[in-house]
Amino acid sequence: MTALNPSGWRPEMGDAACAPEGAGATFTGNRALHLEEPLLFEIGRADHCGVDFDEVAGSPLAGLALRAAPVDLPGLSEPEAVRHYTRLSRQNYAIDLGLFPLGSCTMKHNPRLDEKVARMPGFADVHPLAPEGTVQGALKVIDELAHWLVELTGMASVAMTPKAGAHGELCGLLAIRAALDARGDKREVILVPESAHGTNPATAAFAGFKVEAIPATAAGRVDTAALIARLGPNVAGVMITNPNTCGLFESDLKTIADAVHAAGGYVYCDGANFNAIVGRVRPGDLGVDAMHINLHKTFSTPHGGGGPGAGPVVLSEALAPFAPLPFVKPGTDGVLHLIEEAQGAEQAPGAFGRMCAFHGQMGMFTRALAYILSHGADGLAQASGDAVLNANYVLRRLEHVLHAPFGATGPCMHEALFSDDGFAEGFSTLDLAKGLIDEGFHPMTVYFPLVVHGAMLVEPTETESKAGLDQFIAAMESLGQRARAGDAALKSAPHFAPRRRVDETRAARKPRLIWTPTEG
Ligand SMILES: *Cc1c(COP(=O)(O)O)cnc(C)c1O
Repeated sequence: MTALNPSGWRPEMGDAACAPEGAGATFTGNRALHLEEPLLFEIGRADHCGVDFDEVAGSPLAGLALRAAPVDLPGLSEPEAVRHYTRLSRQNYAIDLGLFPLGSCTMKHNPRLDEKVARMPGFADVHPLAPEGTVQGALKVIDELAHWLVELTGMASVAMTPKAGAHGELCGLLAIRAALDARGDKREVILVPESAHGTNPATAAFAGFKVEAIPATAAGRVDTAALIARLGPNVAGVMITNPNTCGLFESDLKTIADAVHAAGGYVYCDGANFNAIVGRVRPGDLGVDAMHINLHKTFSTPHGGGGPGAGPVVLSEALAPFAPLPFVKPGTDGVLHLIEEAQGAEQAPGAFGRMCAFHGQMGMFTRALAYILSHGADGLAQASGDAVLNANYVLRRLEHVLHAPFGATGPCMHEALFSDDGFAEGFSTLDLAKGLIDEGFHPMTVYFPLVVHGAMLVEPTETESKAGLDQFIAAMESLGQRARAGDAALKSAPHFAPRRRVDETRAARKPRLIWTPTEG
């Protein structure tokens, strides 16, 4: 093994690698822009340093921290390390490469204007421990974004610090717990519909509640009668996603909220799909007490590599006193203050503590505020309208070849749901999704929501053009026909990806997470 980057396919990569076949084989295993890439540990060597340092005979500065054994990290030069990660990144798919129809995730274009604003040194270089008086601009961004989130949702206040949707759910449920505790109420059941995002029951359990499932109707909505029948003195509240994970509007939400309130509970709304209704419906008008907003979905901040996201939680009048610390509060002097303590002159007596060390995801706040201000009220309403229009276009153009379980109940919201009904014997949703990789698209969300067999959840978002949608639809039509006809080649797709079909069950159950060096 040399210290220089020996990129290329090696026999031990096995069948899973895109090994060259027949006359098309290359010496290296690379295929033009398609480059194979070993692990960093295989490229570099621990006894080799990528940088020339002067020999130091014992460091007086290191003192007791002086290492006794080598670090065992591969010594690589800067260009070797940079190329490694750049090559790997080219095997990935990104929203900047093409349509990314991952349902429930809202993978839409992030406007470059927002990136530019977030990179302005006055915002980008702010330190979380900088004295209040030196960061009035940053506090103003938090305060102004908070204002618009409250305005758009029709709620009383907002907790800005949660760092993702699921983190926001936890914040909302802790606020509900704090409100119940404040009135000495021991209720401990949270009702969650069957079609809920997996984070909902997980959050409720994590926050110490007991979770009970509420069934869905044949129309893909919460069974309102079943939910109301279950209400009682031990029900702390409900968690309802609206629009729900079938891509449908929960039209009974107001009725449900009134019943929950009458029974002494609170209404948590999973607002991750706010993208579909922003500028058109205010959750506060539907009786919601707490709702997280995924800035990385609705307000188009990057999801990049799984984070950072931002999940501010809007709160009703009833829950507003129980928001976590810290928060921004305008003083009478026109100066913005960051309230860090629960006691004292700047009181926040109901605050249940902190969701994170500092103020939340500042870079996401800057981007989201730029997005909101550049769109304006009419632009935001158009964005949600276009998201719904695009999803319905996909739904209606594909329902002749893919079964749409709720297609007959009317239009969908921001995502179109299909099932594997009608596929040839032995063909599954997974086969179609793998075929989509060969066609150059990221697969849609599969096998979720659980209420539909072999679910395929397609969320095109508003940032796709009609031409882009037509191309995707044509690929999906072709794949749907192949799945119906039982085209054997689909069972072994993807054929053109860096890796062929991998054993996903084994990868999940018995992952090989440790690299062991091979001699030689
Ligand atoms: C994305 C999503 C979440 C979780 O949001 P994260 O930011 O990934 O934690 C929760 N509920 C629904 C309906 C979602 O779509």
